[in-house]
Amino acid sequence: MNVSNIKSFIEFYKFLEITNCVMRHPRNQFNLGLSSKEMSAKKSDKRNYNKCLNINLSDHLENLKSEVNALDCNLKEVATNLVFSDGNYNSSVMVLGEAPGANEDIEGKPFVGEAGKLLDKMLSYIDLNRDNFYISNIVFWRPPGNRTPNDKEISICLPLTKKHIGIIKPKLLILVGSIAAKSLLHSKDGITKLRGREHFYKDEELNLKIPARAIFHPAYLFRNPIEKKRTWEDLLEIDELIKKENIL
Ligand code: URA
Repeated sequence: MNVSNIKSFIEFYKFLEITNCVMRHPRNQFNLGLSSKEMSAKKSDKRNYNKCLNINLSDHLENLKSEVNALDCNLKEVATNLVFSDGNYNSSVMVLGEAPGANEDIEGKPFVGEAGKLLDKMLSYIDLNRDNFYISNIVFWRPPGNRTPNDKEISICLPLTKKHIGIIKPKLLILVGSIAAKSLLHSKDGITKLRGREHFYKDEELNLKIPARAIFHPAYLFRNPIEKKRTWEDLLEIDELIKKENIL
């Protein structure tokens, strides 16, 4: 390749905003001159890793949000706000609930009301907080009067929730409540049967198989405080899994 060709080739790459290329014999750019300790620190830095791969997660999420906004869902007509997500999108832990309630509808953020406060408190027992998990819901708008979303509303939102998981690619999914657990684990069983067991969320199209755990919804725990004990056991098991598999 002569000099002018190389120059236009580089211009072309710049135009496409390609800052990185895969060569026929790719070099492992992560371990150049790094000790194994530095290397594992680098690998766990998902933000750096994504930068190297020229992937902009926030762009993908903004695009997804536009797709959600364009959904033809009756809930949109009566809701104040679309409730998309909160927390750290670079995290390896993704928490998914059912649908926004009144406070979430006003603020446009998931789990900010009473149930959200209890959920945050529960997760904080195992050192999970909104700096180290990412959180969303199966359904993106508040069902009127906080009713349970119906099958049609769930099936309209579900493909984009699956896409959401495909963008975040968490190493662990925490499914909060019966609707989230049943919808993503394709199970007819209720939460009482699904909690306390090992599950995998599978998406064959995206080639994903992600460990998943189901827990009682905090709103259910308000009504059935006796179940807090079992939730505590579930949280301890999740904590063990996070540590064993180096998830965070
Ligand atoms: N309950 C949910 O399932 N999600 C929220 O965002 C709030 C309450």
